[in-house]
Amino acid sequence: QRELAPWTEKLLPSPTAELEARVARLQQGGVKVYRFGLGQPDFPTPEHAKEAAVEAIRNNFTGYTDTAGIAPLREAIADALQQQCGVLYAPDEIVVSSGGKHSLFNAFNTLLRSGDEVLLPIPYWVSFPEQIKFAGAKPVFIQTDARTGYKVTPAMLEKQLTPSTRMLVLNQPGNPSGAVYSRAELEDIARFCIKHNLWAISDEVYSCFVFNEEGFTSLAGLPGMKERTVLINAVSKTYSMTGWRIGYAAAPAPVAAAMLKLQSHTTSNPSSIAQMAALAAISGPQDQVEQMRCVYRDRREILATGVNRIRGLYCLVPEGAFYVWVDASEWLGKTLCGTVVDSMDTLAEILLSRSNVAVMPGTGFGSPAHLRLSYAISMEEIQDGLNEIGKLLGYKE
Ligand code: PLP
Repeated sequence: QRELAPWTEKLLPSPTAELEARVARLQQGGVKVYRFGLGQPDFPTPEHAKEAAVEAIRNNFTGYTDTAGIAPLREAIADALQQQCGVLYAPDEIVVSSGGKHSLFNAFNTLLRSGDEVLLPIPYWVSFPEQIKFAGAKPVFIQTDARTGYKVTPAMLEKQLTPSTRMLVLNQPGNPSGAVYSRAELEDIARFCIKHNLWAISDEVYSCFVFNEEGFTSLAGLPGMKERTVLINAVSKTYSMTGWRIGYAAAPAPVAAAMLKLQSHTTSNPSSIAQMAALAAISGPQDQVEQMRCVYRDRREILATGVNRIRGLYCLVPEGAFYVWVDASEWLGKTLCGTVVDSMDTLAEILLSRSNVAVMPGTGFGSPAHLRLSYAISMEEIQDGLNEIGKLLGYKE
């Protein structure tokens, strides 16, 4: 028997993709599923972005492009970053890719060496540890809890520092926690990165969905951080364009050049048609983004309030993204529908098989005690789904 590459033994399949495939099968069989598992916006792509793609096809803009993405798109991204994050990037510091996930892959494989350690707060987005491992490095997990709003502080990070520590990965607004760091909190983190000479990955794919007063601050925009940060963003969540596969990295020029070298030998340019759509989305009217933000903000209130009424479930009201991170640890060890809840996977399985409610077990996000519920579904589906969960688990006294 021929052997496969060693990484195939080390990497886990994406649990979010597995759940989505299962829900799709149930729906095809005519079952009404309450889809709290979804990680994508339920809004259509803006019309002007769709039109730009149709135009691109009509105009035969269908060949290879600049590997880093067409110049007007990189210029539009630079303008948007200056406005939203207060950081000045030159177009050659931006590499457009086939999605935020792809940009992360380029960044990890450009910055990490074999044996390097990467500080990764729990809960983390599912692909971070797998991509870090793929790059030959080691994720070093930092446990957080509701007391700090699932955020890390320099004191927590300091405890895990070793001579091999090379990078911090910060994703905010966070998937799955919805945590948003204040400017003051980020300044502390920035000082920590500078003091210990670390690279930072700042995954900001939910930056337009922040619901608190202070709003979004980018780690890359703080003094001394641009030169050590790779900022990751995408049109996927912001413009409801997950299937178009356009993301980008903004990084110091030598890092961007190295990422580009990798991309030139792997995927080449992202889809020429999707780039035109992304250009229209980023440089066109932004009112749809603000409308989506307001809709998410209202849904999160209903979902978080509803969750906190259900027996054994607790959550904070998240400040960003479109997920509620639910502590369901009280259910561990209890019997539900004749089954012992020995893990969140079991609880999620019971919710799906008994009530047609799809949720993501926290296991893939680094927590054995949580569930992730997305509110990228209609208010009606949220309310009906909450009723189903309540019927199954009961309500607090
Ligand atoms: N980063 C985070 C935190 C995400 O939640 C996601 C998607 O779920 C991505 C990156 C990847 O985005 P894209 O679809 O653009 O690859």
